[in-house]
Amino acid sequence: MAQGAVDALVVGGGIVGISCALSAQERGLGVLLCDPGEARRRASYGNAGCISRSSLFPMSGPGLWRNLPNYLLNRDPGLRLRYAKLPRIAPWIASFMKAANMSALRRAATALDRLTSRAFDAHMHLAVAAGATGLIQRKGMLRLYRTEDSFHKAAHEREILLEHGAKFEVIEGEGLRELEPALKRPFAKGVLYPDTGAVSDPGALLEAYRKLFVERGGRIAPATVDELSPEEGEWVARFAGGEARARKAVIAAGGWSHGLTRALGYRFPLAVERGYHLHLAPGEGPPLNRPIHDSGGYHMLAPMRQGVRVTSGVELAPLSAPPDTTQIDAAVREARGTLALGAPVENEPWLGARPSTPDGLPVIGEAPRHRGLFFAFGHGHIGLSNGPITGQVIGDLLLGREAAFDISPFLAKRF
Ligand SMILES: Cc1cc2nc3c(=O)[nH]c(=O)nc-3n(C[C@H](O)[C@H](O)[C@H](O)COP(=O)(O)OP(=O)(O)OC[C@H]3O[C@@H](n4cnc5c(N)ncnc54)[C@H](O)[C@@H]3O)c2cc1C
Repeated sequence: MAQGAVDALVVGGGIVGISCALSAQERGLGVLLCDPGEARRRASYGNAGCISRSSLFPMSGPGLWRNLPNYLLNRDPGLRLRYAKLPRIAPWIASFMKAANMSALRRAATALDRLTSRAFDAHMHLAVAAGATGLIQRKGMLRLYRTEDSFHKAAHEREILLEHGAKFEVIEGEGLRELEPALKRPFAKGVLYPDTGAVSDPGALLEAYRKLFVERGGRIAPATVDELSPEEGEWVARFAGGEARARKAVIAAGGWSHGLTRALGYRFPLAVERGYHLHLAPGEGPPLNRPIHDSGGYHMLAPMRQGVRVTSGVELAPLSAPPDTTQIDAAVREARGTLALGAPVENEPWLGARPSTPDGLPVIGEAPRHRGLFFAFGHGHIGLSNGPITGQVIGDLLLGREAAFDISPFLAKRF
C-alpha cells in the first residue's frame, strides 16, 4: 500500500515522535506518523511520570568515580552491568566516562535548562488541546536523602539549580512528615522541586496526544520502518506492505533510532539504559501525594492510576537482552521500607529502554549530512519531560525556521 502525499514523515510514536508530529501539524504540514503501535514497548509508557524542571544532571557526573567500584561489581542497585553484552556499547561507555567531570556536568546543565524550563508549558499546550489536563498535577517531586552526608554530596546540584533559577526547598523533620505523612522511614533531608509536574498515567497521556493528532487529520502507518532513505529529493520510508514518501523526515524512534541512523552512515555512540517498573497496591495509611525519589534506595515511587509505581535504576544491556529482575526486586524491597504497600498489581514487571547519549543531552536538529532529515532522539531519563518542547523545535526546523532558542548543544555534529 502506498501512502498519499505528505509533507513530513515522523518515524516513532513515543512522546518525542507524537510531539514532533503534532507540532508539524500545528504549523500547517501534512504529517504521516509511522509506528507499530505497541504501546507497552515504549519508554514513554512506563516511566515515572515526572515532567521535571530540575533534571539538569546527566547520569555521568563527577560522583561516578567515587562509586565506580560498586558499579563495576554490580553492588549498587542504581546501575547494573550485563557484562557479556557490554562490548557492543564500548563507544558509549568510553564517551560516558569522558563526560564524568564537573565542567561537562555544568555545560550539560546549562544546555538542559533550555529544555526543562520550557517543558511543563509545552506539555500543557498539548494537554489542554487533547483534553488531558486531568492526567497532570503540579505538586512537585520530592528527593529524599537518608543521611546528611548524601545530602551534602549533592550540594553542587543545588548550587547549579540556583544559578538557573530552578526552584527547590530543603525540608526536614516535622516538615517532611507534614508534606508526606505516608513516609515510614526516617530521612535526614528532603528536597522538594515544586515546579515538577506528575503524570498519573503516561500511557494514557500519550494515547490522548495520539487521538488529538488523528482528530486533526494526522495519518498513522501502523508499521515498523525497515528502511528510510533519500531518493530523488524525497525521503522514502519502507515497511511491511508499503512505503511512504515526503520531502522531510524525522527520526524519533527512541532506543531504536540507532538502527535507522547507522543505515544512513552515522556512527553515534548511542546505547539504551533499560529500566523496570512494577505497580503495588497502596497499603494502609495516608496516600503518597507526589512522586518521590529515594536516593539511598535507588528507586522512584510515583502515585499512578494503576497503583504506586516503583521504578528501578539503570541496566546497561542491549534492547533485546532477556529481562533480569534483580534491580526491580531490590527496589520493591526498599520501597516497602519507605511506604506501606500492598500486593503487586501485575505478575511481571514492565521493562523499557531509555534512549541514551553518553553526554546526557538529546540529539535534536537537522542531520549533518542529509538535507530534509531531522533527528529527535536520545532523551535518556528526561524524555517524557522534554518530548513536547523537542516537538516545538522540530516543528520550526521543518518549516525552515530557526528554533526559538539556541539548540547548538543538541546538534548531532558534536559526536
Ligand atoms: C523506568 C523509567 C523511568 C523514567 N522516568 C522518567 C520521568 O519521570 N520523567 C521523564 O521525563 N522521563 C522519564 N523516563 C525517560 C522517558 O521515558 C524516555 O526518555 C522517553 O519516553 C523516550 O521517548 P521516545 O519517544 O524517544 O521513545 P519511546 O517512548 O521508546 O518511543 C519510541 C517509539 O518508536 C517506535 N519505533 C522504533 N523503531 C521504529 C521503526 N523502525 N519504525 C517505526 N517506529 C519505530 C517504537 O515502537 C516506539 O513506539 C523514564 C524511563 C524509564 C525507563
